[in-house]
Amino acid sequence: MSATIKNTQGKIRRVSGPIVEVEGLQGINMNEMVRIGAGGLFGEVVALERDIAIIQVYEETDGLKLDEPVVRTGEPLSVVLGPGLLGKIVDGIQRPLVELEELSGVFISRGLSVDTLNKKDKWTFEPRVKVGDKISNGEILGVVKETKSIEHRIMVPPKQVGGKVLDIVKKGDYTIDEPIVQIQNNGKKQSILMYQKWPVRIPRPFQERLPSNEPLMTGQRTIDKFFPMAKGGTAAIPGGFGTGKTVMQQQLARWANAQIIVYVGCGERGNEMAEVLEQFPELTDPYTGEPLMQRTILVANVSNMPIAAREASVYTGITMAEYYRDMGYDVAVMADSTSRWAEAMREISGRLEEMPGEEGYPAYLSARVASFYERAGRVTCLGNPERKGSISIVGAVSPPGGDFSEPVTQNTLRVVKVFWALDTELSYRRHFPAINWLRSYSLYAEELADWFSKNTSSGWTEIREEGMNLLQREEELKEIVRIVGPEALSPSQRLLLTVARSVREDFLMQNAMDPIDSYSSSEKTYLVLKIILSLHKKLEKIIQTETVNYAKIETLPIFSVIARLRTLEEDEFKKQAKEVMKDVENLVIEE
Ligand code: ADP
Ligand code: MG
Repeated sequence: MSATIKNTQGKIRRVSGPIVEVEGLQGINMNEMVRIGAGGLFGEVVALERDIAIIQVYEETDGLKLDEPVVRTGEPLSVVLGPGLLGKIVDGIQRPLVELEELSGVFISRGLSVDTLNKKDKWTFEPRVKVGDKISNGEILGVVKETKSIEHRIMVPPKQVGGKVLDIVKKGDYTIDEPIVQIQNNGKKQSILMYQKWPVRIPRPFQERLPSNEPLMTGQRTIDKFFPMAKGGTAAIPGGFGTGKTVMQQQLARWANAQIIVYVGCGERGNEMAEVLEQFPELTDPYTGEPLMQRTILVANVSNMPIAAREASVYTGITMAEYYRDMGYDVAVMADSTSRWAEAMREISGRLEEMPGEEGYPAYLSARVASFYERAGRVTCLGNPERKGSISIVGAVSPPGGDFSEPVTQNTLRVVKVFWALDTELSYRRHFPAINWLRSYSLYAEELADWFSKNTSSGWTEIREEGMNLLQREEELKEIVRIVGPEALSPSQRLLLTVARSVREDFLMQNAMDPIDSYSSSEKTYLVLKIILSLHKKLEKIIQTETVNYAKIETLPIFSVIARLRTLEEDEFKKQAKEVMKDVENLVIEE
């Protein structure tokens, strides 16, 4: 606690659910953290009304009594940033859950405070600067091997003005509490530790924003091919209950080619977060073969946590993501589901008796949602050596009844650039991922076309357009069939329907539970679609030049060969894909 703050202690005047009103804290700041009552519950100032501070409490408020003391901390809600974050499971206010449980059992006692990072662990610090070097904000002073594949870069904290290195420790093992560098800063001596603190509601600074012209590859065919995500981009996955939002978020956490994943879970169902907590530690990182948790931080809202913690968890998650971005990593943030966060805002706002906006959500809903997604981006980081980092954000939205016209979905769509619309109808038919190919879009597709043409098989963009057109035309033809019946269709229209079905079932559908189909390399994604579209051209030519019985075309064995392609392991796939391509070229329909 800082010695200069005044009126350090107030008294509870009223308790209303997650909101506590406190008197006697004149001079306290908005967003300052306080400790409430005898138990020292964590809370944050969310409004100030004359001599009353209104506080949202991040823990259950049952049992709080009038006149109990409330103590200022002098600090806004902040996170600790340093080696040891990777692999951690933390709650909304960054308390490590495993360590908390060890202290208090499964039901976390309130007011417990545990250091996020263990202060006894030693890390091998390797200096990257030397005495006399001039250093600036964000400069990398040294590195620590945080996990097998991630080097943790110890940086000059962003608010620190640069200076000169007066002293730096030798390579060796240190705790995060030991000063490792001394700098001369504006005539003052300053020690730098291996960790820093940052207030969660303030975005961490960077040098410069860069265009989002590299894809975040996800291994999901529908996404990578039709509705691609960019590194540093923003995407929303809206969908009704059971349409596959959580499965999709987990697929992205597993397979996306980001180096660091921050997964913020506010589960829809009581046990959903528990499942994530159980399953994640068992998964293997496909890029390194190491446990996936080594590149992951989970921010978990277990069901016995009050709603205010949901809001904190979103900010806590994005701030940790920014810290790894600043090191020069590509970070992906999954938030499941942002609707739970919005509902928390609605409830708190109601308790504060603010003027409600649409459907009872506060008028600032759209600003809050926008400011969260604005923290995504690809950037040049502060300080030397020069490096680029990115944060990609994927937020699930769960509109009641799957109705996308509600405020949370609408406000999200206004700011994100990618829209993967999950469709209840498709999930009923067990077409997974249930991404509706007619309603979804990616505003990055054009910007990324260049990257794809340089870095993947030629024709990536062409077959994307061809594939999407085909599905569009299928929809039109289906409408005709509904109105006038299938007899109205020409042979080439019938052919289109047959091929479109193969695109849907053999290309778009992807089973997350199948160990092979779960991930599709960009080559596989490209070739499966390419083969189907080549078959279309070939058959079109055949029906234009010969008269064939259409039933023969529909039952061609090559369709079932194509249907199996996506389930083939990579090497086997490459072999077979080549052969199938040849078979397509040489196809003849026998009489
Ligand atoms: P939501 O989070 O939208 O409520 P879930 O992600 O929990 O929905 O998905 C519900 C169910 O749908 C899953 O338990 C699973 O059976 C099925 N499912 C969703 N996506 C896929 C997929 N890509 N592959 C296979 N099954 C899926
Ligand atoms: Mg879910």
